Amino acid sequence: AVPLVVAINTSTAARNGMLVRDRIAMEEARNLDTVVFDKTGTLTEGEQGVVEITAVEGWSEAEVLTLAAAAEGDSEHMIAQAIREEAGERGLSVPGVRGFEALEGRGVRATIEHDAIPAAAPGGAGGSANGGETDGRTVSVGGPNLLRHLEVEPGPDLERFADQAGERGQGVVYVLRDESVVGALALADVVREESFEAIDALQGMGIEIAMLTGDDEDVARAVADELEIDTVFAEVLPEDKDEKIVELQAQDKLVAMVGDGVNDAPALTRSDVGIAIGSGTDVAVESADVVLVENDPRDVARLVRLSRKSYRKMQ
Ligand code: ADP
Ligand code: MG
Repeated sequence: AVPLVVAINTSTAARNGMLVRDRIAMEEARNLDTVVFDKTGTLTEGEQGVVEITAVEGWSEAEVLTLAAAAEGDSEHMIAQAIREEAGERGLSVPGVRGFEALEGRGVRATIEHDAIPAAAPGGAGGSANGGETDGRTVSVGGPNLLRHLEVEPGPDLERFADQAGERGQGVVYVLRDESVVGALALADVVREESFEAIDALQGMGIEIAMLTGDDEDVARAVADELEIDTVFAEVLPEDKDEKIVELQAQDKLVAMVGDGVNDAPALTRSDVGIAIGSGTDVAVESADVVLVENDPRDVARLVRLSRKSYRKMQ
């Protein structure tokens, strides 16, 4: 039988917008040492917008955006949505692709038909320059980690573009046709208003805050500085996210993870208290101990408070 106090606590939790999937974790929440937040979509709104485009010589911004939108056609990533939306707003006609591939934690790749490639490519490299060959071209879109993976250097102009975006806390994704970078897009995301209060409240309870993200170091730092978070794990590949939780646990810390994405699922499972944001992916919700119905990071502090209050009564 379920102990009465625990049962009461669970329904109190429900009234506070929390679905408790694991009661033991809810009880453990009172002793948390560290709360690790996913950045995008958890501490930030997660709704990205394209704010700037740059193209290398011989390409136009519209062509760079067209290629990007084509390659991102089948991706559910927020970056992909932002890119498709911008292409739509600019009235660009986006060609179809085949062989779409998601490069987890890095970007996407697809093959675009020859004829569909914008004609103004440099040195006759675009359009029908390949003389009847029907193989199409590979278009890849991805972050700095994709470039590193492909061992492609962006060149000084694009590096400057990325540095300036980074200083503004904006992420950059590069657009590659075959092996060469043809341009880049800067994307902006905003910190949720509620995140400031959430971090403040948790720190006030003596809990350490860390941020865990696949994003570039610069962007992660800008957000962490804004929120006054000291510990930042950036450029972490999806398969390595749970390792960071293990590292903290190895320092004898009781760790909660808060996230929304498929990428966060292993870390949610690994943590002592896995907390999913309700609007997150099914995989995240299924991996969590507690689900926050209202997408409000302040509910993490409420959860700890509720756990402390409820379980103190039990002793
Ligand atoms: P997060 O940990 O912030 O949720 P992801 O692990 O989903 O981020 O992605 C990490 C990085 O990989 C992104 O910041 C971006 O640079 C790149 N990336 C991932 N998916 C895409 C995509 N569909 N299009 C472009 N870039 C992508
Ligand atoms: Mg995320």
